[in-house]
Amino acid sequence: DNLLSLLRAEVTIASVARCVSELVHNSIDAGASHVDIILRPSPLYISVVDDGHGIRPGDMRHIGRRHYTSKCRQLSDLESISSYGFRGEALASIAAVSHLSVTSRHSDYSSTHTTTLMNASEIYNGPSSSSLISHGTHVVVQNLFNNLPVRRKSILGDGENNKSACHDIVKSVRNCLVEIALSLESEAVKIRFRSESALLLNLCVRAEDKNNASNVLKTAYGRAIFKSFDTFNARHGDVTVNVLVALELTATQNYQYIFINRRKLVHPAIYKTLSYLFCTSLGFHEDRSEVHPVFVVHVNAPLSGYDLCQDPGKIVVDLENYG
Ligand code: ADP
Ligand code: MG
Repeated sequence: DNLLSLLRAEVTIASVARCVSELVHNSIDAGASHVDIILRPSPLYISVVDDGHGIRPGDMRHIGRRHYTSKCRQLSDLESISSYGFRGEALASIAAVSHLSVTSRHSDYSSTHTTTLMNASEIYNGPSSSSLISHGTHVVVQNLFNNLPVRRKSILGDGENNKSACHDIVKSVRNCLVEIALSLESEAVKIRFRSESALLLNLCVRAEDKNNASNVLKTAYGRAIFKSFDTFNARHGDVTVNVLVALELTATQNYQYIFINRRKLVHPAIYKTLSYLFCTSLGFHEDRSEVHPVFVVHVNAPLSGYDLCQDPGKIVVDLENYG
């Protein structure tokens, strides 16, 4: 059973960024309007604080247990899941390979509770020594990958002092938070990211604001790269598409995002096709490989039309009938 948990964790929590991304998704699923992330790369320490609805005291003992989720009660719920999570996989996977502590105060309660697990074994579950002033959840992850030495070494570098490994971790977490901010359309969330007491990201996503994506890109990657944008929308039956495209090309392919119901689509052929189409429509007729268009595409489609469960990381979305 332990081995199975480890193997699952290897797939689900493939990197530090994936770990942070799962925690932030949980905060957004909990209706948070503020999410504060602190990352120390060496020794690795991750802290995510949110002001979401919190976790009921009675549910705290399930936290970090495999398949515990409050978001999907029956099979038919899968047809209408609007949260990021639905399988109770993330915290259990993180708990299997780390020292995980979750402290929470639910909005219906005045008490704060903590549960702490080390490599999936419960160390503590009960009232918290310090209370949260208002409702919300604080998750701390330490000793990540302590029982996966090969992964630990490949991600954290040798001897934990590897400067370039630390730099890569911070950068990939930052990129992943930008991606989360770009994925949102109807939520209002402030996302703050700090590392070694430096504020590395301070994003403010407003609900239903068509300037969100361009504001996020400008704030995160600089106004110099992203000067002017074009937006347009299209509807085809019950599928809607919102597009933001920058009028200048960039040197990297990193600024291309397609989200289907807030989930990032991983499908190189579709990115390539869109890239080509945007290049042509911006007046760059040759297929130049050294410059790339910047775009953020949101597709909103009925959930029954695609398969969310294709891979354990929930990042591959299989499209059906959307030729
Ligand atoms: P999932 O998101 O698929 O439900 P997770 O393992 O990510 O699975 O989380 C398990 C459960 O823990 C969630 O369903 C939720 O009930 C609770 N939870 C986790 N993080 C938070 C949070 N930040 N705020 C409130 N509840 C949370
Ligand atoms: Mg989750």
